[in-house]
This record gives sequence, structure tokens and C-alpha cells, in this order.
Amino acid sequence: MNNSLMTFVRNGHFQNCLKCSIAAVQPGNRSFHTSNPERQIARKYVVKNYFQGPPKRSDFDIVEHELPALKDGEILVKAELISVDPYQRAYNLRSKLPYTQYGYQLGVVQESKDPNHPVGSRVISLKGWRDYSVINTSSHPFSDFYKLPDLQGLPNEYAMSAVGMIGATAYFGLLDICKPKSGETVAVTGAAGAVGTIVGQIAKVKGCKVIGFAGSDDKVEFLEKELGFDKAFNYKTANIGSALKSAAPEGIDCYFDNVGGEISSTIIGRMRNFGRVAICGSISSYNEDPRKMPKATILQPSLVFRQLKVEGFLVQRWAGPENRWPEAFADITKWIKNGQMKTHHHVTEGFENIFDAFTGMLEGKNTGKAIVKV
Ligand code: NDP
Repeated sequence: MNNSLMTFVRNGHFQNCLKCSIAAVQPGNRSFHTSNPERQIARKYVVKNYFQGPPKRSDFDIVEHELPALKDGEILVKAELISVDPYQRAYNLRSKLPYTQYGYQLGVVQESKDPNHPVGSRVISLKGWRDYSVINTSSHPFSDFYKLPDLQGLPNEYAMSAVGMIGATAYFGLLDICKPKSGETVAVTGAAGAVGTIVGQIAKVKGCKVIGFAGSDDKVEFLEKELGFDKAFNYKTANIGSALKSAAPEGIDCYFDNVGGEISSTIIGRMRNFGRVAICGSISSYNEDPRKMPKATILQPSLVFRQLKVEGFLVQRWAGPENRWPEAFADITKWIKNGQMKTHHHVTEGFENIFDAFTGMLEGKNTGKAIVKV
């Protein structure tokens, strides 16, 4: 009997082996049958529902399955760090169900049929919420699969944050789109999160005045005292208009928008002539029903009379043919090493706890980059 396609589902939802119809295991029981004890058994989170409001545990199954033997050009990777990110919420409606939860992970090569990726080397991939995976090393664009960059002695967590997709987002979104000049004023929302903390600090490196908005008094203190933001506000309690008037009476030159919604309309309404806005994300709307999106103050008068430039972006733009991500990695590593930048990691332990880390991040429990160590 060939059991190689055997798939069991955990979390109280079970299905039979796809090929041999052997009954499913009991809840939480890790036992499984396999025709080949050499084959690696892997676990992955499968999303089976379109989320309604905040994602629920019952929207996911943890599925155990047997990995195939390696072919030439493939590697077997064991995940060590797994990233939880807002886009995993935002892209849910765009993905065909069911799907394995994609996202960045850092893993170590356990078996290799590619001499460029020997056993023991480390890779970054979009394999997401899986503990083991087989990767064909030649079938991915740079941003989906690459060797662990030279972190110059920094811990591997940095490859999931500042020296990874997150750092590239902050770097190119701010420097290529907002183009801040020394002496200008930069505002950033989602300021205490993964992207926001790096945006604010790059702006400081470039000689700007930086104003951040985050969701708690502790985060405000962290931004001002730890990261050197000139001023930070708790957007849940502050009057945003008055806060901006007091902190930036001259107006805002650059706005890095991570959250969207009314706070963004208020900030854009206080921009100076020829200000630049980089639209990175709109997390304030990710849990909303897309048919009933919240309304925010109309922007056109500010855009026209202040002659503002507004541009949305996806960070993969800079991983295209020119592949500029390494440029961001090199500058950011330099700034961290010479003390101009700090990166905070919010680490959760355990493959079983990825869901909690994910929803915790969406609720704002993280300061800096939310990562799961497995
Ligand atoms: P964060 O580390 O910032 O985590 C998300 C944060 O969002 C939470 O910590 C929380 O902080 C904040 N938040 C949650 N709900 C709301 C709300 N209703 N209003 C305002 N803030 C809220 O995540 P990332 O740094 O990874 O991502 C930040 C943004 O960047 C997201 O919009 C994401 O989609 C986007 N992004 C875009 C990319 C691109 O290529 N365009 C690439 C990567 C990220 P708080 O306590 O402050 O509320």
C-alpha cells in the first residue's frame, strides 16, 4: 500500500489518508503510519475559511503529511524562525481555499541535492507556517527564496526583520518614495511595529524630525526613549489633529502610512506643500468586511492645494530584475552595527503557538517584529 499522500488533520478536524482510507488519528495524537520511516513527516497550517473579522483558530487546521524524497536541485529544510505578518490577514480573501499559510521563514538545510545549499546552511523562503519543507532551489524569484544574508554576527532573528523583507519595505518605501531630506519632518503610523520602528530610525539617520503614532503609552515611551523618535503619540487616546499641531507646527513633509483610515486623512490634512506619502499598508481595515469598509475624510482638497504626491507600493518591486534588497540589507546592517539603529523582536516559542502569535500581532501585542521560534 502506498501511503505517501497520507494526510492527517489535527485540531479536532480529521480526514482519512488520501490513498489508503485508514481512519484518522485521535485529537492531539501524533501517531501516524508511513510506508517509509526515512521520509520526513511535516506539519503545516492550512487555512480553510475566509476570515470574518479577526481570524479564528477554527479557520486553520494543522495538517501532518509525509514529504517526498528529494530530487536533484531540491533541499529539505527545517524551519527555525517563522514570521507572522499583517499581509497574512490582508491576502486571505485573495487566496483560493484551502491554502497552506504562506509567509517568510528561516530554515536550516537538513538534506541537500543542490551543492549551492549544503547541509547546515540556512535559507529564507516563503514556505510559511510549516516545520519541514522541500524546496526546489531554482524555481523561485529572489524575494521568495534566498540564502541567509551575511548578518555580520547579528542573531538570525534579524533576517526576519531589519535585514529581511521588513527592512527592505521600510528602506525603499521611505527613501525611494518619500525621499526625505535632512531637516524635514516625517510622520509614521504603526510606528512601534516591525516596519514602523525601522522607518522612524532611517528617517533619524537621514537627519529628519520624526513623529510616530502607536497604540499604547508603553509603545510611545519605547519610541521616544529607546529609538529616539522626536515625539510619539498614543493614537487611541490622543487628539491627532492637536498632537500634530503641537509636535509639527510647520507641517509634515513625509508620511509613511502603515494603517490607513481616519488617522491617515488627518495626517495628510496637515502636510506641507509638495509633501510625499508612501502607502505601505492599511491594517486598520484588514479585519473589516470588504463590503462595508469604514469611511474616512476625503483627501482630494489636501492633495490638490498642497500638491502632494501619494504612492502605494509592494516591496517586491525592488526585488525585480535589479534586485536591490541587498542594498537595503547592507545599509541597515551597517546602521545596526554602528549603533544608529535598534531592532526589537517579539518572540513566541513553539510551532503550536503560531496562531496566537499571529492574532496577538494583529491586536498590537508586539513591539517590533513578531516572530515564532520553532
Ligand atoms: P506590525 O509589526 O506593525 O504589526 C501590526 C501592528 O498594527 C500592531 O502591532 C498594531 O500596533 C497595529 N494595529 C493593529 N490594528 C490597528 C488599527 N486598527 N489601527 C492602527 N494600528 C493598528 O506589522 P508590520 O510592520 O509587519 O506591517 C505594518 C504595515 O506594513 C501593515 O499594514 C502591513 O500590511 C504593511 N506591509 C506592507 C508591505 C508592502 O510591500 N507594501 C510589506 C510589509 C508590510 P498598535 O499597538 O500600534 O495598534
